Amino acid sequence: MTTPGVTRLTAAWLTAAPTRAVIAALEAARPRAARFVGGCVRNALIGAPVDDIDIATPLTPDEVVQAVTAAGLAAHPTGIEHGTVTVVAQRTPFEVTTLRRDVSTDGRRATVAFTQDWAEDSARRDFRMNALYADPDGVVHDPTGGGIDDARAGRVIFIGDAQTRIREDYLRILRFFRFAAWYGKGPLDMTGLAACAALKDGISSLSVERVWKETRKLLAAPDPRDALAAMQSAGILAEIAPEIDAEGPARLARLVEIETSRFLPHDPLQRLATLLPADAEVVRAFARRLKLANDERDRLVAAAGQTPRIVSYMSMREVRRALYALGRGVFVDRVKRGWAAADEGKADAQWRALIALADGWTPPRFPLDGASVVAAGVPPGPLVGAVLREVEAWWIESDFTEDEFSIAERLKAVVQGMV
Ligand code: ATP
Ligand code: MG
Repeated sequence: MTTPGVTRLTAAWLTAAPTRAVIAALEAARPRAARFVGGCVRNALIGAPVDDIDIATPLTPDEVVQAVTAAGLAAHPTGIEHGTVTVVAQRTPFEVTTLRRDVSTDGRRATVAFTQDWAEDSARRDFRMNALYADPDGVVHDPTGGGIDDARAGRVIFIGDAQTRIREDYLRILRFFRFAAWYGKGPLDMTGLAACAALKDGISSLSVERVWKETRKLLAAPDPRDALAAMQSAGILAEIAPEIDAEGPARLARLVEIETSRFLPHDPLQRLATLLPADAEVVRAFARRLKLANDERDRLVAAAGQTPRIVSYMSMREVRRALYALGRGVFVDRVKRGWAAADEGKADAQWRALIALADGWTPPRFPLDGASVVAAGVPPGPLVGAVLREVEAWWIESDFTEDEFSIAERLKAVVQGMV
């Protein structure tokens, strides 16, 4: 039955056993002590997938730990200073956070106090679509009055005055574009966009870790094209990453078009590699500045490499060589980058074929090692490596022959020539 004016969620996670267990534990401590909040409510409302379930509660963190352990659930004080306890029920984690209000803000981090007031908790959130709460029975609370409509219409609108909210935490500039990329429909909210553009200098005061985390989430959106184009014209992209060249967003737009039209998987780092210029030194500087993890940096630097050169008209043999030298991951990153940078529509079939070849061919392992070289009569030492490299170069040139006899013959010949 539906009641007019009441919005009620239906979602499998809402009634799932682990969810019920956590809610029951909190409500045993105090009736009406739990509401779902944020992303899970927003996404359930619009039928988008829900990954994490956040719960807001007037109970203090200590009371939460007490309530859930009494019910036999595990409690991990993951962010206790922010009031967050991770509760695990049947291997499913729930973030249970005590209602908070801001005591002071400095644009980078907030000092918070716990509160019993749901409205105060909603007032410190960023966008109206992110300030939605739902009772355990699924009834949605929309304290800003615009959250439900915004979520459905795909509008990312700040709670209250946009500039004031951004000055409290400049990360909200990046979050504006991230949520627009994920959930926005149609043009960006002009007021929010203008506020972000006016206050963009504040981004430099943020920790680079927060900036990178948010940027990666933006790039993981199914279609971040419009958000990135707006960030470029507002000068915000240059604020985060001056390393990105003027054509970067156009290349990225092409890549997203390729991914979409060809049903190819997308990946935030591959997209970033496409946004950045193909210059390993510039990419290294970017990774250093934003303190990327080593594996992220290595992947971006490899994607920017120029040898062997990846072009649409490579022969099968050249493709196999490149795959052997680079590995599949780097090869595909470079193909997609090259494809996105090529003249639109030109050689599309060839570029697509390169990816198909990479999917269909696993580079073989070079069948010789140091021991085989020593067995062929080379004394252990630096010569072993030199012989191995020479035979390997011949083997690659042979298009990876599987003929053991000719490999052994080649080894013999190289050893004779070198010893
Ligand atoms: P996602 O599905 O991407 O996780 P989410 O809405 O859960 O989306 P989070 O970044 O996990 O986004 O944040 C959870 C909630 O906390 C948000 O919905 C918002 O209400 C609030 N929030 C998080 N970061 C901020 C911030 N910097 N300023 C204001 N509110 C924030
Ligand atoms: Mg979340």
